[in-house]
Amino acid sequence: MNIALIAHDEKKPIIISFAIAYKQVLEKHSLFATGTTGKKIGEETGLNIHRFQSGPLGGDQQIGAMIANNEMDMVIFFRDPLTAQPHEPDVSALIRLCDVHQIPLATNLGSAEIFIRGLERGDLEWREIVKKKKESEQ
Ligand code: PGA
Repeated sequence: MNIALIAHDEKKPIIISFAIAYKQVLEKHSLFATGTTGKKIGEETGLNIHRFQSGPLGGDQQIGAMIANNEMDMVIFFRDPLTAQPHEPDVSALIRLCDVHQIPLATNLGSAEIFIRGLERGDLEWREIVKKKKESEQ
């Protein structure tokens, strides 16, 4: 599965702890992240992560493009609900695209932990069916 990891600055320590705790699960998948989040997780865990631009420079939109192309299977996005973000429109657009394409989106640690257990259990296998169906339609 293709998994996106994003965290606003105040939430970066939490996503790093999350990635350390679930490294054994995450390393079985293809990981993508916005620039700074990916750099920090990579440094702390050694996980192999494809890094896009930093969020404020367009990284959220690059991940959004993968969602629009049906290439992203899960998004873990620890938003900071208490700090105004200069790229708020991009954040909203990313969340909207997850809803448009039925992509599981966890915006906090509580839901991300449930997602990761579901991932281990194979709860996201339906994504492979959707991807094959969409490919055959093209
Ligand atoms: P960053 O971007 O990982 O480059 O800090 C995250 C964001 O603010 O969307």
